[in-house]
Amino acid sequence: MERKDIPQMVYFGFDDAVHGQVSPHYDYLFLGNLTNPNGHPISITLFVSHTYTDYEVLKKYYDIGFEIAVHSVSHKNIDTGDKVRKEAEEQRNNIVNYTGIPKEEVVGWRSPFLVTAGDPQIYALDELGFKYDVSLIYRRSGMDGDDAWPFTLDYGWPLPCDKDCPTDSHKGFWQIPINAVIDFKHQYPCAFIDHCYNTPWNEEDTYNYIMDNFYSRYNGNRSPYGFHIHAVWLNYGFRRRAMERAITDMMKHDDVYIVNIKQMLEWMKYPTKLKDIKYFEPWGYKASKTGKVVLIVLTVCFASIAFGAAYTYRNRMQLLCTISEKVNYIMLTDIDRKDVANDSDDEPIEGV
Ligand SMILES: [Zn+2]
Repeated sequence: MERKDIPQMVYFGFDDAVHGQVSPHYDYLFLGNLTNPNGHPISITLFVSHTYTDYEVLKKYYDIGFEIAVHSVSHKNIDTGDKVRKEAEEQRNNIVNYTGIPKEEVVGWRSPFLVTAGDPQIYALDELGFKYDVSLIYRRSGMDGDDAWPFTLDYGWPLPCDKDCPTDSHKGFWQIPINAVIDFKHQYPCAFIDHCYNTPWNEEDTYNYIMDNFYSRYNGNRSPYGFHIHAVWLNYGFRRRAMERAITDMMKHDDVYIVNIKQMLEWMKYPTKLKDIKYFEPWGYKASKTGKVVLIVLTVCFASIAFGAAYTYRNRMQLLCTISEKVNYIMLTDIDRKDVANDSDDEPIEGV
């Protein structure tokens, strides 16, 4: 896919407890009127640890459409497979039991302090039904270097490794590299945007720091721009103002989407060009009832033809297609009568 066809995905992964002292930042920055260019609300991911989390507040964010992921119960060093298994399962249970979020919707993990357990970590997460991990760092060469795209661990971690990277094959399990940002002096990489050796101490430097890293992706290989961050970093007013300006300015581009990590991975599984992104369901598009019924009817017809061809009985093929046409006619007539009047917001379905 050419760069001009790739949406620039921006995602936020906030770590640690969710409670009334950090929620004003989430509310202020992400619950305004901001929508993606497809008209649907932006979304972020919260990696939640247990201690101090207010699960009522957490449920509010789930109901709004944020993704909820797991960041352990104890928030200690979790450096063995057994510890990962225990902490990931218990904290997912906490989230499910205290908020009612369906278990199958909690699929992401980040290790506290980015202390990991190598292959046993991935085996444990995979066994528990988690789909992705965001605990390993990739450092590009500098502001001009390319970042890594998310990938599945079919061949282990193929990038330069700090320590404890998986080497076994974990087919279909997603690893989202923490692409280090480059500090505001363009000197050193920083895994978390709020932990830099060179820290900007005013709004302008902070804004430029965020936007320089954005444009290096936007004008580069269009790899997703991840904010790996703790909300307390925004306690300084100049930082929150800089972040607000940066979000506003990034969103002025009609090819920039702020999505949560699950939504990003859906795009990775089904890469969709910008011209078709309006109809990409994981990012908010809802196919109309009419569109879905037509899709079912067409599927029945094609299946019938394939079935007939497989047996090479011409009369059987004709019979099945005749039946399919009848079904098509009956169902579409039914739609005309019952659905179309109630489906005035239908939009054309491309590619069906
Ligand atoms: Zn943490």
